[in-house]
Amino acid sequence: MSKKSSKVKKRKLEVSGKEIKKRIVRMCSICGKDIKVIVYKDKTYRGGYYFFNIPLSTKKEQDKARRAGTRTEMMGDREVQVMRRDPKPYAYVEYWECSPCFRGGKVNDPPKPVLIDKKNMVKGDKIKRT
Ligand SMILES: [Zn+2]
Repeated sequence: MSKKSSKVKKRKLEVSGKEIKKRIVRMCSICGKDIKVIVYKDKTYRGGYYFFNIPLSTKKEQDKARRAGTRTEMMGDREVQVMRRDPKPYAYVEYWECSPCFRGGKVNDPPKPVLIDKKNMVKGDKIKRT
């Protein structure tokens, strides 16, 4: 049986009255537990705390960026060195925390990055795990 024929778009309304766009599952970067996230049409979400995407780039790309050198820019009245080019990322890591970790704020270990495909990113519309 093909599961690809599930193109039916059901418009579900939550108790809050917000329209759900999709449900996704993310892994907590601290404890590794699944976080069930509900994304609403108004671009808000519930469940877990999303912080940022960490770009990952290959050593080769980083070397290339380093070879391109830096240029001097003014930041306020300070001179800073800015890389002329950024290493091209091959993937992004999403940093999420589940509610208990977020509230507990216990960060004993450095966060374990969760490698994800670009196509599974929240910003895309092709999220498969729902
Ligand atoms: Zn957690």
